[in-house]
Amino acid sequence: MEQSTFLRKGLLYLQPKKTAMPEIPFPVDTWNRQFEQNDASGILTFFLQYFGGKIAFSSSMGAEDQVITHMISRINPKTSIFTLDTGRLFPETCDLIQSTGVRYGINIKVYFPDTAKVEEMVTGKGINLFYESVENRKLCCHIRKIEPLKRAFSGLSAWVSGLRKSQSVTRNGIQTVEWDETNRLVKINPLASWTEEQVWNYIKENKIPYNPLHSKGYPSIGCMPCTRAIFPGEDIRAGRWWWENSDSRECGLHVKE
Ligand code: SF4
Repeated sequence: MEQSTFLRKGLLYLQPKKTAMPEIPFPVDTWNRQFEQNDASGILTFFLQYFGGKIAFSSSMGAEDQVITHMISRINPKTSIFTLDTGRLFPETCDLIQSTGVRYGINIKVYFPDTAKVEEMVTGKGINLFYESVENRKLCCHIRKIEPLKRAFSGLSAWVSGLRKSQSVTRNGIQTVEWDETNRLVKINPLASWTEEQVWNYIKENKIPYNPLHSKGYPSIGCMPCTRAIFPGEDIRAGRWWWENSDSRECGLHVKE
């Protein structure tokens, strides 16, 4: 924290500089209490209606996201659903974008990175720059993911994500409803309290399409060069940016600044 210093009675005291709390224009805490006992579908029903055309679902086509797409297609299939094509996705993920759209009769909008920025980055740092340093990896994620996400968020008041608490150490503090100060949006995590078992039971019961890589040791799937299969007993996100420390393994989409 930034600090200011002042002298009193000959001693040097450190006093935290007062910083204004962000003004949150929505009753996030009240909603969390209200929806403590609600099921994911009930939570989605409320917020899709509450925010109308100002809410969108950001899907990475993972197992949790497929559960949410299924629920949304039953609640309101006209809801805006989008995904990010970084240019480095697995072919299986591209196939799933296509087959999910067909299965549910929905249009999943695909956002792409800025071509000029990708070209400049790759020319300057190499096509696989992300293996060289965390800084390079974050730059790549920023250009290929964060910037397109900002465009997708334009004009919204809220977004839905498929995060679960038990996915990783970086996610165990998430709540069902959060204020995303970085993007100044309400963030809804309807599956925050779900277990992995619940996700897969729901997928099987409802015959929801999913990425075949999940059956080949990939519980969490991102870009192809940055995702590997995990070994038995490993954390479910151990295959993401596996060469980095576990506390830096987020692409920035869900990081609170
Ligand atoms: S996951 Fe890897 S390839 Fe994908 S945007 Fe991030 S660094 Fe780039």
